[in-house]
Amino acid sequence: MNTAELAVAGSQPQSPDHGDWDLTTAGEPLHLHGPAALGDAWPRILPHLPVAAVNPCSCGRRADLGPVPGGQWFDERFAAAVLPGAVETDDARRMLGALLHCRHLGQGLLTLHSVVVARGDDAVLLLGGHGGGKTLTALALHARGWQPLSGDISLVGFPRNGAPRFRGGTSGFVIREEAVARYLPDRAHLYLRGKNAPTPSHGKTDISSLFPPPSPGTPSPRLSAVLHVRVETRESAVIEAPGQHLAHSLVYQASGRQLDRVTRRHPVALRPLEPAAYTRRRLVLTSRLAAALPFWSALGTPEAIAARLDGLLAGRSGRPRAATS
Ligand SMILES: [Zn+2]
Repeated sequence: MNTAELAVAGSQPQSPDHGDWDLTTAGEPLHLHGPAALGDAWPRILPHLPVAAVNPCSCGRRADLGPVPGGQWFDERFAAAVLPGAVETDDARRMLGALLHCRHLGQGLLTLHSVVVARGDDAVLLLGGHGGGKTLTALALHARGWQPLSGDISLVGFPRNGAPRFRGGTSGFVIREEAVARYLPDRAHLYLRGKNAPTPSHGKTDISSLFPPPSPGTPSPRLSAVLHVRVETRESAVIEAPGQHLAHSLVYQASGRQLDRVTRRHPVALRPLEPAAYTRRRLVLTSRLAAALPFWSALGTPEAIAARLDGLLAGRSGRPRAATS
């Protein structure tokens, strides 16, 4: 570790305007040193980090980086980090998301921009661009007995034998009210309770309380399929099985999401956090995921896509044939 990197000492004196926390996710905790104001901000941050919980530091590490603007703010194993004193909540969330992306990758876990839904023995990864309709499709699947397990970010693990597994995700489940009212008019009242009309512009609601998390100790579900969605108004859904290369590209794009975010106030580039060796590992894991599971791409209304997915899973006998043209 060079001098520009994080010095981790055994016992640093604590200043009252800073705090130390252990952020626990799927693996060993990440030690954080940051502004004391974070203490009040955790409830707004944690629902957007995968399977995260936070406690006052008990790991014994005290990270003290001092003021090094533009310098390294995390250690090489992504086990400790320092957040700048004036960091705003949303930027702290983005920085932590990128750090956890790397920390999990170091443990062989992919972080995917995706919603996971499960029913019985099946769990499906829903991929799609921002605003592409992952959440709407998850709600349409909910009407068919599927349970959303992660709202926006999902961790996927790769057991030595067997299919990739869902290893947890973000608990927040944020809907765009206007989109729910437009695409799911018959069910919107279930999700927009207490609201007479959706907020016209940027109305968003977190409805995660409608989807209680699985009880602790529930085994992590095996993934059955990947569905890339783009919701639009055509009534009859178009479903295709893209070739291996396109499937890999789409999974790879979803796996880089946490690095491609732009911070609002604190000027820090997130992409360089990922070391080249980790990027290569991400290429390998995303290729494995795309090869291991049936991959479908869907266009249509959320309900039409949901119905087609149920049909595909009912009739599955391995990977579907690629659509011919
Ligand atoms: Zn600690």
